[in-house]
Amino acid sequence: MKRFLFLMTDTGGGHRAAAEALTAALEQMTPPGTIACRIVDFMKETTRAPFARAGDLYGPVVNYAPWLWGLSFYATYPRPLRRLGTWYIERVHGGGLARILREERPDVVVSVHGLATTAVARVLRRVAPQTPFVVVVTDLSIAHPFWFCPDATAYYVPSRDVAERAQRHGVPAERITIAGQPIHPRFREPQGNQAALKRAFGLPPERPLVLIMGGGEGTGPIRAQAETIAQSGLPLSMMVICGRNKRLYQRLSTRKWAIPTIVCGFVRDIPARMAAADVLVTKAGPGTIAEALTAGRPLLIGKYIPGQEAGNVSWVVDGGAAFYTPNPHDVVVALQRLFDAQGRPTPHYAEMAANARRMAQPDAALTIARGLLNLAGKMSPPRPSVVAV
Ligand code: UDP
Repeated sequence: MKRFLFLMTDTGGGHRAAAEALTAALEQMTPPGTIACRIVDFMKETTRAPFARAGDLYGPVVNYAPWLWGLSFYATYPRPLRRLGTWYIERVHGGGLARILREERPDVVVSVHGLATTAVARVLRRVAPQTPFVVVVTDLSIAHPFWFCPDATAYYVPSRDVAERAQRHGVPAERITIAGQPIHPRFREPQGNQAALKRAFGLPPERPLVLIMGGGEGTGPIRAQAETIAQSGLPLSMMVICGRNKRLYQRLSTRKWAIPTIVCGFVRDIPARMAAADVLVTKAGPGTIAEALTAGRPLLIGKYIPGQEAGNVSWVVDGGAAFYTPNPHDVVVALQRLFDAQGRPTPHYAEMAANARRMAQPDAALTIARGLLNLAGKMSPPRPSVVAV
């Protein structure tokens, strides 16, 4: 039995989604009962309140004061502040983490969170120095320097941009693999006929379906986007996913819409919903972007969280799979370019959908899982299809 310990915290939905994707990929690649995976919220499970609750501030801050998040993101670039941050994490969470490591005795420790890096490597060096420590970066382009810890055994990154950043921050090139953003293997599976999926969600199959979402926390101008699209006169239907944003869900689910619309809270069947949709309106969350690309759906990016998500916008817009639409009216203009007055997709739509498929890296989780199994001694070294920088 090989044990894998994943460290994350719920700042947004992306880190947990990445850990779950890797767990699912590991389970898919191994006979039942031969591996055990545990996902640990390294902030909540290693200490008590109030420190354990620090991650809970993320949702309200990025929703109501994104500038504050952006400020703290860039203000913590300088090395002395990063050292202070590492000291804090080790001091507050190190004891609890050491206890979990002693109990769990993992064969590989994997971090999918930018704060669970240098401090974790230090604790691991004390408690279990032989255990490989792998970091899977979940930002597509602008990854905070905090992510990079030259002591880690291996780094998996989603793009060349991030690989270059890692090297600039001292990670040896031979330890870096550009694998893509790990998304759940379910996104690789066929979801069925699109018209049938729309019908199953109670929406008319003949209308293009606009899926509006804002990551796990339901972040961004979702309400204004939905209202503007509904009033645009375009023959569309809408699905609005509010995630954990209960206030938004309460507001949107109780109102009447001018076009066929369904509103939901946090849902677990995003692959089917993306397959039913024709286009996504979203904030620039890396998980959502990678999933939409795999589904072959064009994206309209209405917002990004300052800091780590800024680079995601240019990455996907430059690739030709997205428009940046900061104003809800920009969303309507973009939809007019993608669908004609009868709701039929235009050549522009076909081009963007093809670009999305070209940019997709649906096998990222399987590639990383193969590397983790290799480190745990359960597989021969990975095939050289993996790109080393
Ligand atoms: N997600 C989900 N259900 C929801 C809303 C979001 O499973 O109702 C998932 C979504 O598919 C993606 C993740 O949450 O995998 C959001 O990650 P992303 O990186 O896009 O944004 P974050 O929430 O981390 O800011």
